[in-house]
Amino acid sequence: MTYDFFDVSVVRHEALTPAAVRVTFAGDTLGGFVSGGRDQRCKLFFPAPGQSEAIVPRSEQWYPRWRALDPSVRGIMRTYTVSAARPDSFDVDFALHPGGGPAIQWASQVSVGDRLLVLGPTVADNGGVDFQPPADTEWVLLAGDDSAVPALDAIRSWVGSSLPVYSWIASAPQRCAPGTVHCPGGLVAPLRDAALPSGTPYAFIAGESGEVRALRRHLVRERGFDRRRVRFTGYWRRGATEDDLIEESAAA
Ligand SMILES: Cc1cc2nc3c(=O)[nH]c(=O)nc-3n(C[C@H](O)[C@H](O)[C@H](O)COP(=O)(O)OP(=O)(O)OC[C@H]3O[C@@H](n4cnc5c(N)ncnc54)[C@H](O)[C@@H]3O)c2cc1C
Repeated sequence: MTYDFFDVSVVRHEALTPAAVRVTFAGDTLGGFVSGGRDQRCKLFFPAPGQSEAIVPRSEQWYPRWRALDPSVRGIMRTYTVSAARPDSFDVDFALHPGGGPAIQWASQVSVGDRLLVLGPTVADNGGVDFQPPADTEWVLLAGDDSAVPALDAIRSWVGSSLPVYSWIASAPQRCAPGTVHCPGGLVAPLRDAALPSGTPYAFIAGESGEVRALRRHLVRERGFDRRRVRFTGYWRRGATEDDLIEESAAA
């Protein structure tokens, strides 16, 4: 099993900006939590309205059993990035967008001692890391919005000085690491205008689905990137909750 359930509690929270909070989780069993770094994803489960704990069947076949539960009762699942992992704790950075759903409502009012159920990795090679540059990559392109800042930051630390990395970020200036291009009005126009290096690229794009697709189209059709070298993930979609996206992908 490459993922397992962990009961965790909030041990710290810190406002990164007025629109982002870093929450540190710890728990007795976290010795078994092993992050693959980069854009490592995990699942957080929030209690349904009226419940004190998230109801989730904890077994290897948990997903079909969870989906079979009444949606008004089952735990509410949301996907987040492990922004940093230590032997006894890990961090998740929440972007506090207006009109947010259960995850953002929870993160906006978070207190030390709050408990949460997490589905997290137990081995480093766990299938929950999309950033996988081929060995012949000569430079890396990163682009993303607020929701992708934790993934992009962790990817930059993982790459270190092994490859040149060029980043475009649509978030508050405080969340844009030095050397990144700050894109307050969105990612597509600044990338269209950018002079890109020569050499074999690998791109990782994450954020709002429509914008991510538009960027990928630009890189593949207008810039001639090999589509296999562009890893793109819609982290959220305007007007749709994560539950809507889960139902859509189940129906497809
Ligand atoms: C692999 C992966 C990793 C992710 N990592 C992170 C992370 O580390 N940090 C992070 O903040 N988010 C991250 N996200 C995005 C996060 O899962 C979504 O933003 C999620 O929908 C938030 O849940 P919610 O309950 O607040 O909103 P939902 O109930 O899902 O949606 C409610 C409304 O809010 C809108 N909405 C959702 N997200 C955003 C947003 N970011 N900006 C503006 N409007 C939004 C929806 O369109 C909808 O109208 C990640 C997503 C994926 C798939």
